[in-house]
Amino acid sequence: MTKQPIITVVGSINMDMVTVTDQVPVQGETLIGERFETIPGGKGANQAVAAARLGGNVQFIGRVGDDAFGKELQQVLQQEGISVTNVEPVTHSSSGVATILLSENDNRIIVIPGANRHVTPEYVERHKEQLLASDLVLLQFEIPLETIRYCLDLCEQAGIPAIVNPAPAQNLGEDYWKKALYITPNETEEKELDLDQNQEIAQKLIVTMGERGAKFTENGEEKLVPSYKVEPTDTTGAGDTFNGALAVAISENMSLQQAVEFANAAAALSVQRFGAQGGMPTRDELEQFIR
Ligand code: ATP
Repeated sequence: MTKQPIITVVGSINMDMVTVTDQVPVQGETLIGERFETIPGGKGANQAVAAARLGGNVQFIGRVGDDAFGKELQQVLQQEGISVTNVEPVTHSSSGVATILLSENDNRIIVIPGANRHVTPEYVERHKEQLLASDLVLLQFEIPLETIRYCLDLCEQAGIPAIVNPAPAQNLGEDYWKKALYITPNETEEKELDLDQNQEIAQKLIVTMGERGAKFTENGEEKLVPSYKVEPTDTTGAGDTFNGALAVAISENMSLQQAVEFANAAAALSVQRFGAQGGMPTRDELEQFIR
């Protein structure tokens, strides 16, 4: 059997703390809400889970806090078959958390990056050997931007392809965008970053467009790959599923067209189920779906 390519995600790991309530409190008010749930998330962790479920050989470089969430978040990744040898707890720091107040017409969210702030260039340097053993590297913007730049420099030197999901949108700098193999904004991020102004960068864009699918440019020609028609239940994590799936497909040397079709299919399956990681399909499920 041939060895499955190694996909390394350098990224964020969070615990979403979701309070569901009829109404959000006004200043100084205390309310009794409906229910509370903790849901593992963070774009890095989500994309790693998506890739692992689809058969990717995934290793993670990231950090959690030295709290109870940290242990749980590490376990969640491990249970998905993701290597967490390079996920070290940060002493005296909380894990990354998102406090989410969810009501029918008023959602309020506060994100505390916590341990994700400690995914620094120095930290990646300590785990450089693992990074350099990768066949493909997948990056998002929920860790310091200087770390993304450091990873892209290493990838370029070692000839390792890197996929950059620029979410949340931040400007990496022209020289660094060029070091990515593919850049995968959604339509809002694409507008904000204005990346198609530069020809060389425009060629690298794979733009996700929600229920309309995704577009990319090949040999100077723009191609739209329509999404699968499904009844969405919860689109949270659609983009993360798309990116994890895209990484698997590219690492398996599918053509770009095939890879985007594969990623569209995985994301279409994910929007039919609740939760980000909860909705992500296995390889078997995906193969049955596209058959
Ligand atoms: P999110 O922030 O919700 O995770 P996103 O804004 O990063 O998502 P989108 O462009 O909304 O990303 O969606 C990513 C991909 O998911 C799309 O390219 C498409 O393949 C798939 N997708 C999203 N919504 C639907 C839908 N309603 N039906 C089918 N596929 C969908």
